[in-house]
Amino acid sequence: MDAAGGETFGVQTPTDNSPLTRAASGDARDIDRAAQAAWDAFPAWRALGGKARRKLLYRVADLIETRAEEIAVLESLDTGQPIRFMKSAAVRAAENFRFFADRAEGAQDGLSLPTQGFLNYTVRQPVGPVGIITPWNTPFMLSTWKIAPALAAGCTVVHKPAEWSPVTATVLAEIMHEAGLPAGVVNLVHGYGETAGKALTEHPHIKAIAFIGESRTGSLIQKQGADTLKRVHLELGGKNPVVVFADADLDRALDAVIFMLYSLNGQRCTSSSRLLVERGIHDAFVEGLRERVANIRVGDPLDPATEVGPLIHPRQFEKVCSYFDIAREDGAVVAVGGERIGDVGNYVRPTLITGARTDMRVAQEEIFGPVLTVLPFDDEAQALHIANDVPYGLAAYLWTNDLTRAHTFAAGLDAGMIWVNSENVRHLPTPFGGMKASGIGRDGGDYSFDFYMETKNVAINLDGHRAARLGLPGKED
Ligand code: NAD
Repeated sequence: MDAAGGETFGVQTPTDNSPLTRAASGDARDIDRAAQAAWDAFPAWRALGGKARRKLLYRVADLIETRAEEIAVLESLDTGQPIRFMKSAAVRAAENFRFFADRAEGAQDGLSLPTQGFLNYTVRQPVGPVGIITPWNTPFMLSTWKIAPALAAGCTVVHKPAEWSPVTATVLAEIMHEAGLPAGVVNLVHGYGETAGKALTEHPHIKAIAFIGESRTGSLIQKQGADTLKRVHLELGGKNPVVVFADADLDRALDAVIFMLYSLNGQRCTSSSRLLVERGIHDAFVEGLRERVANIRVGDPLDPATEVGPLIHPRQFEKVCSYFDIAREDGAVVAVGGERIGDVGNYVRPTLITGARTDMRVAQEEIFGPVLTVLPFDDEAQALHIANDVPYGLAAYLWTNDLTRAHTFAAGLDAGMIWVNSENVRHLPTPFGGMKASGIGRDGGDYSFDFYMETKNVAINLDGHRAARLGLPGKED
């Protein structure tokens, strides 16, 4: 559907920045129409009940699977993400729908909290129409991670995807329509953050905003939502440490370090972009890294052999490339990469920065590209200090075979998610989210329903309890 103002914006493919398509550029009028539709559809969607919602969400999952290949190709073309990783994005998206569909019936369940003379019980009910604002990295999977629990909870949705990667959001909207979701239950508005996104965060019909994106946008969203007292859930940036102790299984650690930074073009909120290595093994570990990083296959995202594709947009490409000079100016060493590839498209050589200190910009700022910064450490205390010495606190990875150290170090880390002796392996019931500038709130399992639902307590008196009596005649102090 056209935007109310008839405006559109161009979408380019990162392989050569040539036009891929155009999308309607929605503004406050389109958001208003979508929010009204979500408002009107809410009572019936809420009343439908968990069982019926489960059935519809299963249909969505099935249709995602039937279009998985198309979704993977479109996502690769739109974002530059290698097809080898995008194949599983659609599978995971379907899994998100099934996971939350299975919990739709129980989402309203609460607690029984009896006390003397009173029965207290809690129930949950959907918060109302919600706004979902998503970023450009792995946009299809991330959208389903928010939309599936919202729908399962009984909320209706207005979705505003990122303007740099709008393509698969349209496919998802088509799928949900085909699955038979009633009109108005999910509404898609393409557009810029400062116009469509802002209007969504300010709309009085929208009761909550689930946001994934940069930390500074998250803070804008809180401000914009303040007048209408929006409930906000923020999943923001990261500068995640991977800490490797000398006693770890170093072969496995090396594979995981490389995977968690260079997969998905390094454009992943949980990427381990800071490698902290114990000094005794630093040189050998870095040597192993240097060889593997130099060998990473950069190329066309649709080529199944490609391991790193082009970066999403010329602006993001310039930002990532600017850190090569920043690293050198601050006194670090660009040991591998540190250069663009060719003059066509947004290709950059996978990069390894060594000799860094924790106060350098390459060790503090989220670069969001295939750039790994290595920091040596001498002992556990120093490792913990460096690990926590950033504004972010999303994820952390720890490699050690010392059981006591694993637990004490994990206890000291300020991060929402910690993996010990593993890369990021998700289990959907576990909480997902960050501390500090990485966000507010948690997703996953029942944590998602805590956000999309209100908890209500009902207290029933059982013993004829009587309130203190005021205003009785003839009684004065
Ligand atoms: P971004 O903040 O620039 O944009 C995200 C979305 O917000 C887009 O849809 C954009 O249009 C919209 N937006 C921008 N300004 C807005 C405003 N004033 N009001 C309302 N909406 C607005 O982020 P990005 O560059 O698209 O994504 C990359 C960032 O996302 C990185 O920082 C990354 O770490 C983060 N991220 C976090 C997680 C997580 O789970 N913590 C997951 C993926 C990505």
